[in-house]
Amino acid sequence: MARHRFNDKRTRVRHSLQRTLKENGSPPLTELALEVLIAAYLNDAPVELLQRGSEIALGCGRELFLEPVAGAAILPATILQLLSADLILAEGVGYSTSARARSLIDRAIGECARYTAVKVRCSACRLHFALFTTHPHRHNHTTVTCPECGRREGRLLIWSEERLGFIADEVPGES
Ligand SMILES: [Zn+2]
Repeated sequence: MARHRFNDKRTRVRHSLQRTLKENGSPPLTELALEVLIAAYLNDAPVELLQRGSEIALGCGRELFLEPVAGAAILPATILQLLSADLILAEGVGYSTSARARSLIDRAIGECARYTAVKVRCSACRLHFALFTTHPHRHNHTTVTCPECGRREGRLLIWSEERLGFIADEVPGES
């Protein structure tokens, strides 16, 4: 079993970011460093170091990445690598993405497909449902109706989440 289970939909962003870094004269990053950096950007959350037994976990939002630590290393290799490339900055108890990293990731993501998951919870019948769209502005409190009980405005909690990849990854078929 792979030590780090990476999100397949981010593979294209990782490749694109690696290419962008190379074009900007940065040394290549490990897969783990790329993944941690992209997670920090997408979750808009700092990377924090958490001790897990003999390993260090890099926590970022709700994601955890395990980093094997050699001896009494002061900082995990991933953090050192990202710091020396000016891609993260020490901030409070963690590390946040630098302006340079955000601009490079913006460029890398711009080359990738994206769609939006509009997630809804109906407070009348308690159904949780989601719809997937490439036109998120079309779906809001005045247009979405609960598919089970038919309620809408005032009863639905709606939030949007942009996702990387193709909308057919969620629901197959061409539109
Ligand atoms: Zn309902």
